[in-house]
Parts: sequence; C-alpha cells; structure tokens
Amino acid sequence: MDMDTLDLTAEERSFQQEVRSFYDENMTPEFRRAAELTSWTFAEFEFGRRWQKILHQRGWGAPTWPVELGGAGWSARQHLIWEIETARARPPTPMWMGRELVAPCIIKFGTPSQIEFFLPRIIAGDDWWAQGYSEPGAGSDLASLQLSAVKDGDDYVLNGSKIWSTFAQFANRMFMLVRTSKLPKKQQGITFLLVDMDTPGIEVRPIINIAGEHEFNQVFFTDVRVPRERRLGKEDEGWSVARHLLLYEHGAGLVRTTSELRRRVRWIRDIADLEADGRGGYLSQDPDFSRKLALLEIAVEAADFAADQLILTSASGAPPGAIAELLTLRSRELGQTLTELAVDAIGYYAALDQRESRFVEANVEPVGPPHILMPTPFFLAQRAATIAGGTPEIHRNNLAKHLLGL
Ligand SMILES: Cc1cc2nc3c(=O)[nH]c(=O)nc-3n(C[C@H](O)[C@H](O)[C@H](O)COP(=O)(O)OP(=O)(O)OC[C@H]3O[C@@H](n4cnc5c(N)ncnc54)[C@H](O)[C@@H]3O)c2cc1C
Repeated sequence: MDMDTLDLTAEERSFQQEVRSFYDENMTPEFRRAAELTSWTFAEFEFGRRWQKILHQRGWGAPTWPVELGGAGWSARQHLIWEIETARARPPTPMWMGRELVAPCIIKFGTPSQIEFFLPRIIAGDDWWAQGYSEPGAGSDLASLQLSAVKDGDDYVLNGSKIWSTFAQFANRMFMLVRTSKLPKKQQGITFLLVDMDTPGIEVRPIINIAGEHEFNQVFFTDVRVPRERRLGKEDEGWSVARHLLLYEHGAGLVRTTSELRRRVRWIRDIADLEADGRGGYLSQDPDFSRKLALLEIAVEAADFAADQLILTSASGAPPGAIAELLTLRSRELGQTLTELAVDAIGYYAALDQRESRFVEANVEPVGPPHILMPTPFFLAQRAATIAGGTPEIHRNNLAKHLLGL
C-alpha cells in the first residue's frame, strides 16, 4: 500500500519520519547488499545478527511483543507504517524463528523463569533458534514424528533426527517436538522442548539446496540429555504448543512479503528495459512479456492490499489466522510466477552459476551486467516457497476446514 492511501494523521507522519530517519542512519551499504543478495527468507546470518542488535538498541527488537517484555506498544496503524517503511528500506532479514515463532509460545506457555531467561536473549540478538519439527518420516503429517525422549531422572534422553532445519548451523538453541509416549492418538504423547545446541550428542550435518547453498541441515541426536525444566508446557501435550506456533508462522512478515513482491515487479520491469527482445528493441516493448507482467502486477497489488487490511483489522500481537494462511499461500505462489518471469527475461544468462559472487564480502567479481546476478538463485530458492511452512495441498485442506467449514 502507498502511504497516500493510508491518509496519515500528523502524529502518524511524525512516527513515519522517525522510522525513516532510523533507516537512513543505520542502513549501511553492507546491510543493503546483504538484503539484495538474499534469495530466500534470511540474509547472511552475520548481517541479520548485527541488524537485530541495532533494532534492539533502538527499542524495536520485537515490536509485537508485550511492552513489558520489550514490545513497542504501537497501534495497528503504526505497525503497518513500520512494515511499509521496512519494506521500503529493505534491511537484511535476521533468522526470525526465535523472535516470531518460539517467543509467542514461551510467552503463552512458559514458566516465569523460562520467560525471564529466554526472552531477553532473543530480543537482544544473543540467542538464535532453529525449528526442530520435521523428521525424515514426518513433514506434512507432523504428528507422526518419532524422535524419542525417554525420561531418566530429571532429564529427557533424546534419540533420533530432525531434518530441513534451516540455519541450524548458526543456532545456539532449537525448539523441538519429541515423542514422549505412544498413545492411541498420534497428536497425544508429543512434548515441546527447548534445547541447547551445544549439548553433547547433537550433530548438525549440512544439506546443500538446489541453488548450491547450505541453508538447511539434518540434525542427529544420540543420547542427548535435556533437563526437565526445558520443557515448554505439559508433558505429552506439546501439540497444543505446536498449534499455537503455527498460528504465528502463517502471518510472519506477510506485509513485508507482499511489499517485496511489488518491489520485485518493478525490478523485472527494469530488467525488461535493459534486455533486448531479439528484434532490435527491448523486452519491455514485447507485447507478450508485457501482458504477463501486467497480469502479475494486478495480482500482486491485490495481495498487498489484502495483507495491509489484515494488519489494520487485527489487534497488534494477535495471531493472524486463516486469512493470513490464505494470503501467505497466494503470495508464495505469486513469488514463484515472478521468479519465472525474471529468469525468462535474462535469457541465456540464467544458466550461469555465480554462487561465489553472492556474498557480501565475496572477492569474486560477478560475470555480466549486475541485473543478471539474482534472478536464477531467486528462481531456485523460490521452488521451496511452496514446501517450507506447509505445501499448497496442506494449506488448502486447512482452509477448506477453517475458512469454508467443509
Ligand atoms: C527451504 C525449506 C526450509 C525448511 N525449514 C524447516 C525448518 O527450519 N524446520 C523444520 O522443522 N522443517 C523445515 N522444513 C520442512 C517443511 O516443513 C516440510 O518440507 C514440509 O512440511 C513438507 O513435508 P515433507 O517435505 O515431508 O513432504 P511430504 O509431507 O512428504 O509431502 C509430499 C507431497 O505429498 C503431499 N501431501 C502430503 N500429505 C497430504 C495430504 N494430507 N493431502 C494432500 N496432499 C498431501 C504434499 O502436498 C507434497 O506434495 C523446511 C523445508 C524447506 C523446503
């Protein structure tokens, strides 16, 4: 949404100015580059880490948290202004599983000492959390997970493995679902644990993705001892914690995602102004390409408008719900269409493998004009957008149930 459509009050304008000045002062060329080179959700870890620390120093480390825990206490409209300005400034995105996913669960289900211990470390950018849900035999059907946790004195002893754990190589903690009992219903007997990654018996093995990058991992647990006070919620009732977390997962960063899609539409337009159409003109003059881009733009504008409305109508900090799930799915599918168009636009340049040049501090110069560097990694990374966080079939099943009541 453009700010003009929002019709800001004088106070809101001054808030907007405050946010803009913050970005003007803190967005260094390195941070800009880290965001530009992000092909999937998170920027290079180190730049995300530094950025979280800057946000925290300003008091904006976790705006949606309750004020007493460090939240900003903004109105819904201030949140929207923040999101729009953030999309405009494009800072690097830190891995947010701690701040956005496990934190709301610790706030809701944690003991006072868990809240006191974990929350300040997350907001300060000292603790980084990986999500330990999926297993080789449990993805969409998460409740069939098998990683076993057997009680022994004051500890649980863990054996098994988690897979696709994004950025687990950087995380010092992992929130996990483990099997504590075999009960008739598979959703029962699951427990939610908060685990230190440096516990003996944990091994993180890289999995290299389709773009040749090390983003996720398989994590092996062999006789790993986790103290009982690291359980979140009750034993065997971790499924209710997991469900609470999923409520947040669907909405995390939605406005930023749709604003980013709008920015990417402009990016493709710019590429089309630079690329030849093979008939002596530029791709932007090609009627077929222009039609595809226009259709995409209309769909992106609609998704962005709907995402803004969602923020305005939900109280700050409230779980975003089924509409957010619908919009998340829609924007992920649009993101994929968009990357296909970007790859089409750069033609044979798309075949170049330039991963050595795609680090902020890379010392390998990219080949070709600057605009050809990111379409291919972006295209490849976006293939995962309709797998991670739930496949389209699973989302549509959920929507049929929760939105349509089928
Ligand atoms: C980039 C990326 C990052 C990830 N990061 C993490 C992470 O940090 N932590 C974590 O725990 N997990 C992570 N995941 C795992 C992700 O949550 C799972 O991949 C996802 O839940 C799908 O599970 P699966 O891969 O086992 O596929 P499956 O569940 O085996 O699905 C295979 C196919 O069957 C279809 N299908 C399955 N069940 C049904 C059904 N009931 N009805 C209709 N169709 C069905 C699916 O739609 C899909 O097409 C990540 C995945 C990716 C790609």
